[in-house]
Amino acid sequence: MLASQLYAPTLRETPAEAEIVSHQLMLRAGFIRKAAGGVYTYLPLAWRVLRKIEAIVREEMNAKGGQELAMPIIQPAEMWKDTGRWDVYGDEMFRLKDRHNRDFCLGPTHEEMITTTVKSDVRSYRQLPLLLYQIQNKYRDEIRPRFGLMRGREFIMKDLYSFDRDEQGLNESYNKMYDAYSRIFTRCGLNFRPVEADPGAIGGSGTHEFMVVADSGEAAIVYCPKCDYAANVEKAELHPITPANETALPLEEKATPGTKTIEALTAFLAVAPDKTIKTLAYTTEKGSFLALVRGDHEVNEIKLQNLMKCLTLEMADEAAVAKMTGCTPGFIGPVGLKGVTIIADATVMNLFNAVCGANKPDYHYIQVNPGRDFVPTQTADIRMIQENDPCPRCSYPVKQARGIEVGQVFKLFTKYSEPLKATYLDVNGKEQLMVMGCYGIGVSRTMAAAIEQHHDANGIIWPAALAPFQTVIVPINTKDEAQTNLAKTIYKQLNDAGYESVLDDRDERPGVKFKDADLIGYPLKITLGPKAVNENLIEVKVRRSGEVFYFTLENYLQEVQALLNTL
Ligand code: ATP
Ligand code: MG
Repeated sequence: MLASQLYAPTLRETPAEAEIVSHQLMLRAGFIRKAAGGVYTYLPLAWRVLRKIEAIVREEMNAKGGQELAMPIIQPAEMWKDTGRWDVYGDEMFRLKDRHNRDFCLGPTHEEMITTTVKSDVRSYRQLPLLLYQIQNKYRDEIRPRFGLMRGREFIMKDLYSFDRDEQGLNESYNKMYDAYSRIFTRCGLNFRPVEADPGAIGGSGTHEFMVVADSGEAAIVYCPKCDYAANVEKAELHPITPANETALPLEEKATPGTKTIEALTAFLAVAPDKTIKTLAYTTEKGSFLALVRGDHEVNEIKLQNLMKCLTLEMADEAAVAKMTGCTPGFIGPVGLKGVTIIADATVMNLFNAVCGANKPDYHYIQVNPGRDFVPTQTADIRMIQENDPCPRCSYPVKQARGIEVGQVFKLFTKYSEPLKATYLDVNGKEQLMVMGCYGIGVSRTMAAAIEQHHDANGIIWPAALAPFQTVIVPINTKDEAQTNLAKTIYKQLNDAGYESVLDDRDERPGVKFKDADLIGYPLKITLGPKAVNENLIEVKVRRSGEVFYFTLENYLQEVQALLNTL
């Protein structure tokens, strides 16, 4: 490709709307343009990268026996109503009506569609297992589309669905996909971690998210530096903490004027936050309740929501708080309440002589002993894991990091086959439900994640496997015929040998070309100046390390190949 022809409009300034590096660089380097919030045009450079990621994904899916197909983006509502998700999906679903007033949606995912397809064609156990996948646009009207391709409303996903005879088959399919995902993200040159994730309403332990480790990641993960435990903080289990034994002292009410926060309270009473009980009031579609965690802990709302089996979970308003406790927020607590649902974190129940709100403005109780002074409706693990908490597997202090979820593997069991009645006849001619799994990769998000991990102050540094072009050839002086002829020769040789190259034939100063080369992030830059013409020495600069090599015209091709294999 000649740079003079390449449609890659680079920008000098960083567009103000872009908050994270991948978004800034993709706009600046001429990879994407915004059409609407969370909706983008992929310009040629981006499209080339996306095709590379897709090719890697395809190879690895096919290697595991996956068969590619293409399902419609427009999906009729009926199958979504059968599984109950027409309502559950809420505002995130793009909905539309046809001229006959029938309901449709733009596919946010395809479990309903694939299950409906497979159930009508698969009758016998002999036809299973099946691994079916597609790579296409998905549509989700995200509340907060942001960060460019990271959280789009239209984005590219690979989604594979597995259909097995039984749970053992599902485990095999799951392991295949887990392995394929590890290979895909390794081949993409990403530093990633599979982490245990929250399976939501399905329960069990059958889901992992593949997280690219990056500070800009929207997900928080914990990992153990000693064993291989790693989990999304939403999922991480916690063992209750047991403090040293103390003699229980009598409950006492104490005036604590104006101490509405744990900070104000602990300062006023001169107690440590881990001796206080934080009481939070929540409202769900089923009613309101109180949740208790230690003052230095946070509630894990995902765990709480799973525990309460509710669709919505919000902080209760003042009226609901008053109804449960007769008090305003800031001074509420579990002591002396009747007919109120109270969920206590297991660590709270181990406290001695703690402090909590007295359900009376400007008063707290001290010397509260859970179990004696109040009995919760239920004790459970509802707190959020924190850095240095003991690893749930080996007790070593865990570390926290941020992650970008680039993929997820999920055991669905019969969540969709049951409501959609996807059955087959087993060896004995008995009807059985198909056992399913689903496995997604955010292809466009993976491109953004790669930039988050691979860039510097000058621009993108593509891993060679994803780069839109592997090399750029820059003749220093486009008016010098010897240089331009040599550049054309090398350009032809590289392309003939299968290396995608750009020849920067633009009538620009070398500085401008070098800047664009760094911004776009070609792994190798071949500069041709007087040294190349007079001394037969070709300068090759590695974008990632900044190393410069001189190769002769005779051997540069092998050397370029060897270099690219390391990038
Ligand atoms: P998230 O928690 O980030 O919203 P999700 O768990 O809803 O993602 P899945 O349904 O598991 O997403 O989709 C599979 C993959 O698709 C995700 O792992 C992610 O890489 C990608 N993906 C999901 N939503 C988006 C989005 N809005 N923009 C870009 N990629 C996305
Ligand atoms: Mg997910």
